[in-house]
Amino acid sequence: MPDPLQDGLLGLDYQELSSIAQKFGQPEFRARQLFDALYPQRLPALDSVSTLPKPFRAALQQEGLDIKHPRVEKSFQSTDGTIRYLISMADAETVETVWMPEGDDGETGDGTEAGDSEWHRATICVSSQVGCAVNCQFCLTALLGVKRNLSAGEIVGQVIAVLNDRQVDMERQRVNIVFMGMGEPFLNYPNFIKAVRLLVEGVGFPESRMTVSTSGILPRIHDFGAEPVRPKLAISLNASNDQVRGSIMPINKKWNLEMLMQAARDFPLRNRERITFEYVLLAGVNDSPAHAREVIELLRGIRCKVNLIALNPGPGIQFGTPAEQSVQIFKDLLVKAGIPAFVRRPRGRDIYAACGQLKRTVA
Ligand code: SAH
Ligand code: SF4
Repeated sequence: MPDPLQDGLLGLDYQELSSIAQKFGQPEFRARQLFDALYPQRLPALDSVSTLPKPFRAALQQEGLDIKHPRVEKSFQSTDGTIRYLISMADAETVETVWMPEGDDGETGDGTEAGDSEWHRATICVSSQVGCAVNCQFCLTALLGVKRNLSAGEIVGQVIAVLNDRQVDMERQRVNIVFMGMGEPFLNYPNFIKAVRLLVEGVGFPESRMTVSTSGILPRIHDFGAEPVRPKLAISLNASNDQVRGSIMPINKKWNLEMLMQAARDFPLRNRERITFEYVLLAGVNDSPAHAREVIELLRGIRCKVNLIALNPGPGIQFGTPAEQSVQIFKDLLVKAGIPAFVRRPRGRDIYAACGQLKRTVA
């Protein structure tokens, strides 16, 4: 059981709420009422849960078991409608969560952008850790190191804080989740998986509207394939051979490309599902036609698509953004070889909200 003083009720599943109801001498249906208040209704505090008797609410509050949503400290709005939220947890650690109206998951993309008054669908990019330990050389989050894992409640709490801020109606509006914010979700696996279950069973996200990205934590890719409820899988490939990958992603020294590709080939895909490979293009490092041809060889026989991301620059990052033309040539080579490939539009670069730019910047 998580530390209730830190987490309150958010993050508890039905089973855990049920044992709390029992402990407080309440009938079983109180657990359902609590669950409904926490997740589908997204209520911010026990005081607003009018279905529960006041003495029970007071007893819970006395034990530190209130509903505590992570707090939006600041938000920054981009000219393209993207909003970057700086969100603080009970211990004052902060993470970033990003709202992208119209989505940017590589599959939508009619190229239009919607301001927040008229979005048709949106994507929330969620953090899984405070910082990250994987230390990819092109990523600003890496510069923080890892402070700690987020609890399941803190992961779900980011989503709820953003849904409430945007006043989203889950019955009528279409929202996707990508676990592509700060941190490596597969290095916080149990909390990540628990959050997924609460988002599916509680908040109302179909698993098909969620994608998790990993830098390639091999044992967890295997575990993930065996989960009964799971988001789609994205793998940060980012290079076409071990020499380059090892030089920009230290994790490649532990699990090299041959092992990673074998795990991808073995991954139990569902009907019509594909693995997404993300590939950050770094000028002069991994963006030549020869690299594209190596990628094509690597991906042979894997049901997949590729999302190409031109490097989003940042202070302390030693790489350059490739010219648009070389991005296009790279993409065309993949497409000609029969691999669906998309160039991801950078979202919210002006407010440091784009891929790899999350660093808890407060301005
Ligand atoms: N830690 C996980 C989840 C974060 S996803 C992972 O790395 O997969 C973040 C995505 O943004 C990854 O695909 C990563 O390769 C990419 N990325 C990191 N830094 C970037 C940058 N500076 N510009 C563009 N993409 C970047
Ligand atoms: Fe961590 Fe992902 Fe950034 Fe690599 S790209 S440092 S795994 S957040």
